[in-house]
Amino acid sequence: MAIRYVEVTDDVRKLLSKVLADHFGELKNAKIMALFDQKKRMSGGHIVLGHIMKTNDLIRHLTKEDASSAEGYDYIITIDKKGWEALNDKDRVRLLRHELRHTFFDIDAEENPYKLIDHSISDFYEEVELNKDDPKWRQRAATMVADIYEQEKEEAREKRMKRKKGRKQ
Ligand SMILES: [Zn+2]
Repeated sequence: MAIRYVEVTDDVRKLLSKVLADHFGELKNAKIMALFDQKKRMSGGHIVLGHIMKTNDLIRHLTKEDASSAEGYDYIITIDKKGWEALNDKDRVRLLRHELRHTFFDIDAEENPYKLIDHSISDFYEEVELNKDDPKWRQRAATMVADIYEQEKEEAREKRMKRKKGRKQ
């Protein structure tokens, strides 16, 4: 069985800390785990470059040690591995910022203040402002990553064909 999730590289952790420090002061105590997703996922016809989820009680328990917190992790961000490798740092920051905008720190919450919110348009208004130099970055990035997947599929197909031919001779 191929392992779907793998540890992120240091550049992810570094950029994530920077984005958190620059834009998300309310998350300063949040425990956020980042993982690479090696499986291509689609949503609405586009490649999913990143995804954020809240943890549940079981994951909190299982990640206690890793998070060095009795509560474990609050959020998990998964990042398409090929996508991350293909994006430049500017787009990586946009991607992390977008995912983190989905978090919502609810000061009035009685138990867990770390919640998630969705966007009403395809992005958050704050992000539209920050990305106005390149408003279609997400489509551009998703198309680029889709092309990489497509190319690899094609290469694998060609290899299989060659192998088949080799057997016939
Ligand atoms: Zn989103």
